Amino acid sequence: MSAVDIHPLFSQWGRFGLYSFFIDGSEPAIVDTGVTSSPVNGIAPGLQQLGRRIEDVRWILLTHGHIDHIGGAHALWEMTGRKAKIVIHEADAPFLRSRRTHVEEYLAARGRYLNDPEGEAKIMAACQAAISGEMEPDLIVRHGDQISLGNDVTLTVHSVPGHTAGSVAYVVEGQRDVFVGDAVQIHGAANGFPSYADPDAYRASLLHLRDQVQPNRLFLGHPYRSQGVESLGVVLDREQSAAKIQESLDIEARVRSATETLGLDAPAVARAACSPFCCIADHLRYAGDPTLEPSPFFTTMHGYFNKGYRS
Ligand SMILES: [Zn+2]
Repeated sequence: MSAVDIHPLFSQWGRFGLYSFFIDGSEPAIVDTGVTSSPVNGIAPGLQQLGRRIEDVRWILLTHGHIDHIGGAHALWEMTGRKAKIVIHEADAPFLRSRRTHVEEYLAARGRYLNDPEGEAKIMAACQAAISGEMEPDLIVRHGDQISLGNDVTLTVHSVPGHTAGSVAYVVEGQRDVFVGDAVQIHGAANGFPSYADPDAYRASLLHLRDQVQPNRLFLGHPYRSQGVESLGVVLDREQSAAKIQESLDIEARVRSATETLGLDAPAVARAACSPFCCIADHLRYAGDPTLEPSPFFTTMHGYFNKGYRS
């Protein structure tokens, strides 16, 4: 069986570069869909350049439920003549079914610290604009499931929770190409801080990728940065993949150690003040803006707080 070709497809959303990927098999597939505008502005023109047609796409594979990955799903599905099957992990399916789920997630975690009276309305407005439609997935997947894309491509689903509860990696059998979405954060994207809702799950998933999956190539959802050096982009070779998974583990260990050393001030967290985490930002010499939405700093800090790293 010869290797299937994979092509990145770029679209822009504000300060974020969004990446989808085209799997050029007998039943063509798109991994991740960007936001509402991405199918028209990024995916369709990208396919045209490759001499492929969006109406021939048969699979829409979602790595997780965040707005900038599922937002274009409904629009893309329409452009396939409603023929493509939409795939997502059960734990993130609620994000595809309902915009309100994104608002609830904001309110339960990072929104508690941002002290923005307009926060809820802003998230709802962003969801209205960036999510093209609410829908039921065709296929709900779990760890270990296999998906046959026609007779030439088989994917295995690996559950890699942490960034979100329902994050998955899709592994192309026979060539160990791995679509990992946002499950390998390094230093994060635009905000310069890694984002994970569950630090213990994030760490376990990185170890699973490093020790079990061992990607031959790693396809990332954004051009994640390392500290002080240019991003390597979104397609990493075997050596780069191993190095960036390890770097993500090392950064998680530093953040964990800071929270363990300094503790998280539970009464201050209960008052939902920004201040409970400021000493940790200082300790880590985090110079970014922690309130820049979607705030990875508060998402991640709330994750540690939930796990009991508190004074
Ligand atoms: Zn994400």
